[in-house]
Amino acid sequence: MDTIPEPFRLGNAPAGSNIQRRGFRVPFGLKDGRVWAPSEVAKGRACGCVCPGCHAPLVAKAQESRRKRPHFAHLIDTGCQTGRESGIHMRAKQLIVERQELLIPAWDGDLIDMPNPPHARDDEGQLHWGRPIDRPARRVDLRDLEVERSFGTYQPDVYARDEEGELLIEIYVTHAVGDRKAERVQAHGRRMVEIDLSRLDRDTPHDLAGFEHAVLGEPANRIWISCPEAVADWQASKQELDGQVVARNREIAQLREQQAKAAEARKMREAQDSKDKEGRKVYMRRLMRAKHAEDLAQLPELTSPDRIARILREYQASAEERVGELLDAVPPAVRSACLRAHEHAWVFGVDPALWQLLTYEHFVASQPSGSRFNQKDVATWVRRSFHPEMALYRLFVAQYANRAETRRAGYFKWRLAYWVFTDEENDRIPGFYVPVNDFIDRLESAYLIRRLPVPVGEREVLPMPPSGFSPVAVVA
Ligand SMILES: [Zn+2]
Repeated sequence: MDTIPEPFRLGNAPAGSNIQRRGFRVPFGLKDGRVWAPSEVAKGRACGCVCPGCHAPLVAKAQESRRKRPHFAHLIDTGCQTGRESGIHMRAKQLIVERQELLIPAWDGDLIDMPNPPHARDDEGQLHWGRPIDRPARRVDLRDLEVERSFGTYQPDVYARDEEGELLIEIYVTHAVGDRKAERVQAHGRRMVEIDLSRLDRDTPHDLAGFEHAVLGEPANRIWISCPEAVADWQASKQELDGQVVARNREIAQLREQQAKAAEARKMREAQDSKDKEGRKVYMRRLMRAKHAEDLAQLPELTSPDRIARILREYQASAEERVGELLDAVPPAVRSACLRAHEHAWVFGVDPALWQLLTYEHFVASQPSGSRFNQKDVATWVRRSFHPEMALYRLFVAQYANRAETRRAGYFKWRLAYWVFTDEENDRIPGFYVPVNDFIDRLESAYLIRRLPVPVGEREVLPMPPSGFSPVAVVA
């Protein structure tokens, strides 16, 4: 607790007034147009200072005290509220003018309007960073100093010039620089620094070195109200960045366009390919069908059930006599095998009974027992010896060749069909091997021949059963 000592209790003080109020303490006294610290003037009333706020006389106190900071007190209570703040404000201006130097703050943009470094997003959402503006805090020498020079609508506390030009300095003790003033200064393109002394520690104004540091050298209490060079630098950086982002966006757009075009071209190519492929298949089919055009044209008529029934009747009638003779000459087992026939047996152009009887004669009856033949040879002999329907035979060969080719290509194919023909055509074409193989199977069932394991289709003529009789003898 700090008290005003007895000697300063003057008789003319208002009765009951409290001259011990803490508000009377002021850190600086005014004399000869300057403000002074207590240590810079004479002791007590001899200091000759008045209050910078109310201009009432002051006394300098505790200049040599170890417990208390030196200070001034009002000689008489004036109810002064502004002595401390006015003194701080005046002393700060005076320090700057006399020392002719100042720490100017770092410029670091503005989180919202001017982030440093500037950044921007491209059309793919990628964040791009611009060149950071690097303006650290630094101590500058000042010249052409002037206190409260008027610029019309505003009047900075201190006007000065440094190596970059004009520098306006505001000391904030009770009033900060307002937005409107800041805008005017910015609009005029002038630099302005504000030093905030409003939150000084209570004792700092009473500490000469501490106060000087707070005014001239403390980086934390000062900001740029206006710094056109930094803003221009930032804007240039932002412009460079925006240019880069525009270029990047152009690339992105081109890339997207290229991708879209490539996708479109691929789609068209694929469509064309499948059209070509389909077209080639249709073309090949037409080409290959042309080879069989005449035969295919006859196929429905040649294979109609009516026709088949009719020609079988005709074949039978014309072969009746010969078949009768041959049947008489063979054993009953052979007769039975020759009188049955496969449904396609008509394809050889004669009565099935006749070609079967003659085949038996040629390959079995006329051969000694133990002799061999192959079923392939039988098919060839039958086809050559009689009158096969050549149109049907050519179609059958086409089917057969195609199946063989397919099997060579590694695909299993059982059905005899040719992709060039329609399903109906494939079904109508009669087989030229099955009637022969079917007949050989019947001879085998009657024990007239037997199958050998190899080669495929090989048969051997068996001896006649002991109860049998010689067909040759009968024929003869
Ligand atoms: Zn005062």
